[in-house]
Amino acid sequence: MSQNKPINDNPVQIEAPDITRWQSGNTGVDFVWQFDSGKPGPHVMVQSLTHGNEICGAIVMDWFLSEGFRPQKGVLTMAFGNLAAFARWDPANPGASRYTDEDFNRVWSDDYLNSEKNSAELQRARVLLPFVDAADFVLDIHSMHEPCAPLMVCGTTGQGADKAVALSKRLGIPEHLIHDTGHPSGKRMIERPQFADPENPKAAILIECGQHWEKSSVDVARQTMLRFLIDRGVISEQTVAAHLNPSLQAKSHKVIKVTEAVVAKSSEFRFVQPFKGLEVIAKKGDPIAHNGDEVVVAPYDHTVLVMPSVSKQWKIGTTMVRFGQLV
Ligand SMILES: [Zn+2]
Repeated sequence: MSQNKPINDNPVQIEAPDITRWQSGNTGVDFVWQFDSGKPGPHVMVQSLTHGNEICGAIVMDWFLSEGFRPQKGVLTMAFGNLAAFARWDPANPGASRYTDEDFNRVWSDDYLNSEKNSAELQRARVLLPFVDAADFVLDIHSMHEPCAPLMVCGTTGQGADKAVALSKRLGIPEHLIHDTGHPSGKRMIERPQFADPENPKAAILIECGQHWEKSSVDVARQTMLRFLIDRGVISEQTVAAHLNPSLQAKSHKVIKVTEAVVAKSSEFRFVQPFKGLEVIAKKGDPIAHNGDEVVVAPYDHTVLVMPSVSKQWKIGTTMVRFGQLV
């Protein structure tokens, strides 16, 4: 694999589902479905298409709804997120449908939601907010623009990450669980105040299923969603036994705390090797990249590289890689 590989070189191996039949919803909100078992239990929510070009989650939600599965206890909400962006999906230009006006996963602070600002993404988030805030547990299904092993993003360090890590470990998938420092450009859905409060039992997790358009991303999305629903008691293991894939279960977990992000200071940014993510750099001071004239080095022994960006589509200010410590 060469460095600086354009993202559209990643072949589209999966087909976006036709989800128009789910448009009506049954909640009064387009593309939001909710099923109440009538029995006590948690309110659990699954969202896909937070980014319109991340279609693996839409494929498995379309499958789940088509199969007619219903919760055995509690309440299950299924929401397709950024439909305006997904409506632009074009397999010939698959990177173009990530969002419409702004990143839908940076708009979730109360300050921003309650502001005078407006965008297609803010409109959708304001409509979905009551469902998110009513949920006890949320799984947000994503994928990545570089080929990389699946990751669970367990929120922000010190802000609910411990309970998100504990929830993720119970699912047994994926192997790598990360918590990070958030994004300066805005709050993610999994960072709503109830999920960020360590004292509040509500928890939210975000699965990155692998590269956006590789077949395995669908398998990871399905396995993660089913394990999440089984763990929360919403569906029974027997109900979906035929669809579980034990080979995807991790034998152990690695928890990675992201400590810092490296931002491109130069259009001449290049990695010293074609990293794919989750490599461990043995020694503090070992070179990782050239950032213009500056050599970027490992800040500590056993530095884990999280989501290095090898695409050509970056500019000065783009996050090129994050550094993490094994916990
Ligand atoms: Zn995403």
